[in-house]
Amino acid sequence: MAENELIRQRLMVSGLVQGVGFRPFLYNLARELSLTGWVRNNFAGVELEIQGAPETLAAFREALSSRAPAAAVIDRIDLETVPVRTESGFTILASEAGQLEGSPLPDQGICPACAAEFQDPQNRRYKYAFNSCTICGPRFTIMEALPFDRVRTSMKRFELCPACREEYTNPADRRFHAQTIACSDCGPELWFTTPEGERLDGDPAVRAGELLKSGAIIGIKGIGGYHLACDARNSQAVARLRQLKGRDNRAFAVMFRDLEALQAHCRVSPEEIRVLTGPARPIVLLLQKSSSNLSREVNPGLKELGAFLPYTGIQLLLFDDAITALVMTSGNRSGEPLSTGNAEAARDLGPMVAGFLVHNRPVLWRCDDSVLRVAAGRVVGIRRSRGFVPAPFQAGRNLPPLLACGPQQKNTFALTKGERIYLSPHQGDLDNLSAYLGYRETIARLERLLNCKPEWVVHDLHPDYNSTIYARDTGLPAVGVQHHLAHLAGVALVERVKGPAIGVAFDGTGFGDDGRIWGGEFFAGEGCRWKRLGHLEYTVLPGGEAAVREPWRMAAAYLHSTQSEWADLWASEHGLEQPWAKLGVARRLGINHPETSSMGRLFDGIAVLCGAPLRVSYEGEAAVWLENRADPSETGRYDWEITDSGGELIVRLAPLITGIYSQLKSGVKAAVISARFHNTIASLTVSMVSRIAADTGINQVILSGGVFQNRLLLELTCAQLDAAGFRVIIPEILPINDGGVALGQAWFGALAIMDLRL
Ligand code: ZN
Ligand code: ZN
Ligand code: FE
Repeated sequence: MAENELIRQRLMVSGLVQGVGFRPFLYNLARELSLTGWVRNNFAGVELEIQGAPETLAAFREALSSRAPAAAVIDRIDLETVPVRTESGFTILASEAGQLEGSPLPDQGICPACAAEFQDPQNRRYKYAFNSCTICGPRFTIMEALPFDRVRTSMKRFELCPACREEYTNPADRRFHAQTIACSDCGPELWFTTPEGERLDGDPAVRAGELLKSGAIIGIKGIGGYHLACDARNSQAVARLRQLKGRDNRAFAVMFRDLEALQAHCRVSPEEIRVLTGPARPIVLLLQKSSSNLSREVNPGLKELGAFLPYTGIQLLLFDDAITALVMTSGNRSGEPLSTGNAEAARDLGPMVAGFLVHNRPVLWRCDDSVLRVAAGRVVGIRRSRGFVPAPFQAGRNLPPLLACGPQQKNTFALTKGERIYLSPHQGDLDNLSAYLGYRETIARLERLLNCKPEWVVHDLHPDYNSTIYARDTGLPAVGVQHHLAHLAGVALVERVKGPAIGVAFDGTGFGDDGRIWGGEFFAGEGCRWKRLGHLEYTVLPGGEAAVREPWRMAAAYLHSTQSEWADLWASEHGLEQPWAKLGVARRLGINHPETSSMGRLFDGIAVLCGAPLRVSYEGEAAVWLENRADPSETGRYDWEITDSGGELIVRLAPLITGIYSQLKSGVKAAVISARFHNTIASLTVSMVSRIAADTGINQVILSGGVFQNRLLLELTCAQLDAAGFRVIIPEILPINDGGVALGQAWFGALAIMDLRL
């Protein structure tokens, strides 16, 4: 009989399987199926032996993959048959000593079971702000060192009470070996303070709630730093927050009490619900309903709203029947890193708030909320930070140990170790001094945490980026990687692209091999061998990078390059005669007028022609304005021309500019022109790609670059490439903007270094 035939198998499960409740899961599964054996953590992941009937073992292996804890990521399972042994029961063995290194896990949003306890007045953890278990709670942001055990986290100061210890040591308990286990008797404590940081008595949640209802702004210490919060329906409060923060016109994100409250304001697809409620709990950019009654100050002029759900007990405490939607913005002064310490917060944020909700568990790693958008059937990354960092990317081969320093804007950096590439938390824009200092410190600390010892450094080609300067300062052998090739290489790695691809990089700024500023680029190649095969024609960037904040300069530049009188006329109509004349002098003298093929600047220029602000507070603001005005039912488009210049395909813009200018003159609405412009860019992309495909025989296309944060453009381009028979590749979760550049630098740089060694 089959059930009498016992077999025994050893399984090595590698991936993110430590600190996610994997061993208790296996323990319970083995007991459920009456299998004997053991499980333990080892250096690569989890190792186990199971013994039983062959079909029961098969059922176990099936369930191991299909029912694994949500936060677990299984890279590989190696299976081996071993001799049957005499034993009874299934046990959890101590971790293999000495070499346990595991992978550091990202922070996990509060799980449904812990959230249910939080809401249950009968439970001993009712309303306990730090409730967590083996599968949820902070991980990375409380890590001092690896492996992830309580003694090496900022939980180490909290001695377990007898009740928690009982749960921690009971293999059948869902808190068995939960490193963040705590309760109100033994764990971290929450209280309320004055803006100066003086502790106040009374229920901190009640105080916070009263203030929020009265329209006040409060500071909240979370897991990756501070947030500033106010009622999202109170326009006065939201406007005051924007003013106090010295913030540009960027939209605020809104945290909703629950999915039901969120759905009252936003349209959500099943895929968006999956992302919103997943363990990373990111901010998801959703289409806002016209019936939504949130303050227009939250996201002025935008169709999308950045929405997210509570991911800690502290946040759950803030909501009730009256407060269902809170602006939750990172607690920093504009452009500076998040505040993390209590004293630091009182100093930096005190003047902005009516009080603080704080606690006594240190935040060891600053980690901003992540931002995503579901578009073109993909989860498109905008910012990859809390909830994703520091889970590594798998390269599938051993890499030289290196540090990839990343770009200047939306910086992240990357470290390699073995077959893994670790991408850092979001560091911000390095032209801000505090952000740059934070960046330097974080590189050193992350190298220590991950035990990475870079022997190479990889950097952008831009000589003035602070990240490039940092790279030079390390004194390590350096490899420069062109900005847009880094964009493409990052996508090629995460999407496991096989063979050559056509690469389309539509971006704001990227230093090119020819010293010009690129950003409307077409390449073909693979690995670290790519060739630039086409681009937007060069236009001057009047006054250099200043044109990013003054997009009117681009409007005038495109008109000027088409018909110089149009530019003069347009400038005088907009009260810009003087600055335009000044720039004309500089242009004729050749001072500070670099050439650019940037698609981002083209969007800026067209936006201003359509009526966007002449000056903006952040890069891309004019382009966002333009996208949000487009009439989606409009299907028309403008002409363009592609010429072959010594083997390079150049997109000539004169027909496009002429078409737009003449329609503006004849009174065509901005909504129509915007839509036709978007349609044109999608179509010209397909034309360029088709011509390159005809020459090279390649039919897969990678899209990357900050311009593809434009949902309309991304969806139009994907749909049209798809219809033309191309396989379109866009990155999942890895930021499509500069937040993904460091990963591509690391991969491209590693391949280039390995080439050198051959
Ligand atoms: Zn939990
Ligand atoms: Zn306790
Ligand atoms: Fe870029």
